[in-house]
Amino acid sequence: MAAFLGYRCSGCGTEFPPDPIRYTCPHDGSNLDVALDLEAVRRRSAPDQIERSQEGSMWRYLPLLPVGDPGLLGTPLRSAGGTPFFECPRLAKRHGLRRLWVKDDGRNPTASFKDRASALVVARAREIGAEKVVTASTGNAGAALAGMAAAAQMPAVIFAPRTAPPAKVAQLLVFGAQVFLVDGSYDDAFDLTVHASQAFGWYCRNTGYNPFTAEGKKTGAFEIAEQFHHASSGSGNSTWEVPDAVFVSVGDGNIISGIHKGFHDLAALGWIERLPRLYGVQAEGSAAIANAFAAGEDTIRPVKADTLADSISVDLPRDGLRALRAVRDSGGAFVTVPDEAILKAIAELGREAAVFAEPAGAAAYAGLAEAIRRGMVREEDRVVILITGSGLKDVRAALRSVGEAPVIAPTLEALRKAMA
Ligand SMILES: *Cc1c(COP(=O)(O)O)cnc(C)c1O
Ligand SMILES: [Zn+2]
Repeated sequence: MAAFLGYRCSGCGTEFPPDPIRYTCPHDGSNLDVALDLEAVRRRSAPDQIERSQEGSMWRYLPLLPVGDPGLLGTPLRSAGGTPFFECPRLAKRHGLRRLWVKDDGRNPTASFKDRASALVVARAREIGAEKVVTASTGNAGAALAGMAAAAQMPAVIFAPRTAPPAKVAQLLVFGAQVFLVDGSYDDAFDLTVHASQAFGWYCRNTGYNPFTAEGKKTGAFEIAEQFHHASSGSGNSTWEVPDAVFVSVGDGNIISGIHKGFHDLAALGWIERLPRLYGVQAEGSAAIANAFAAGEDTIRPVKADTLADSISVDLPRDGLRALRAVRDSGGAFVTVPDEAILKAIAELGREAAVFAEPAGAAAYAGLAEAIRRGMVREEDRVVILITGSGLKDVRAALRSVGEAPVIAPTLEALRKAMA
């Protein structure tokens, strides 16, 4: 908490004091970065100290976060993050790489990476005495907010497009949130949420609007640095290590911005020596940021999003500029993948790595193949794929990927026939 200094506009650079509630910049509408007192962090904490922590969740990085310990020990809020990280030699071989790791953030309390942001935002909401939290969501951010709010017994209101996959809508309802399915796109739900939060005084978690979401998401980068350090070279060092390339799927661009902030914080602290190249992967049918990257522009033009990867289906990305900068600053790139490649990636990840990813999660892996095809990744590059959501979120897409199972009579004869 003591590390939270205030906000800085990512557009015009204006600094703001640590006001309880501040969303985007009043001058130019840009997203605000949370400014931290890194000197104080350095005095209070160090990599080897964190490595000795008994805390397995994202809260082991508490000294680097802009909130205090939320308490709620043992609840889903207090156990977000801390997800598995493991090497996949078969996937590496398949792509002609020496080493490849998967970080499976589908293994979060509500089964997506969004738990990191929602846990942090609810912690913040409690600190400022907010009575109700609200968010727009394609599904996962809402499920995560509803789950974390339930853990904190705080009322939540969620707006999602009526086309959201049923499993995600079920999560919202089961966690007891007040749910409104908007007859429109995610972008329509987003605008309605902002208006409703202003009209009713609710604390708004919207992605690419509330500055604190990226602070939760940056813990994904902290974990990659710590886990990669252990997986690749071992320990006994006062610094952590990063891979050469990290693949992240991108819709609004807030995950990749948060991951970048995380690596950036670690580099500023001197805890890592360099940033990994960040590769943003967008669906071909929802590629507003990738389009700007390819054109070498800073202007992000909205598209009419059309992809089966609902979590990255966005007309106008709300954190596009920071996502562009994250990729450029790290020496990475944006790539796009068609829906067929995403479906193929779901089956490959399941078969070869035993990871069940939803379409947007598998998109990151599909992007690796595209980046290799375009000569962006070399054999010796050590690659990490961030899987952002579980396949149980969208079984319809999963079945489109692998097909249905045959139905047979319960006899050996029928089995023989079916196997032939
Ligand atoms: C939200 C989400 C993304 C994309 O994150 P953005 O911040 O919108 O770029 C990717 N995958 C999954 C599973 C998500 O839920
Ligand atoms: Zn500004």
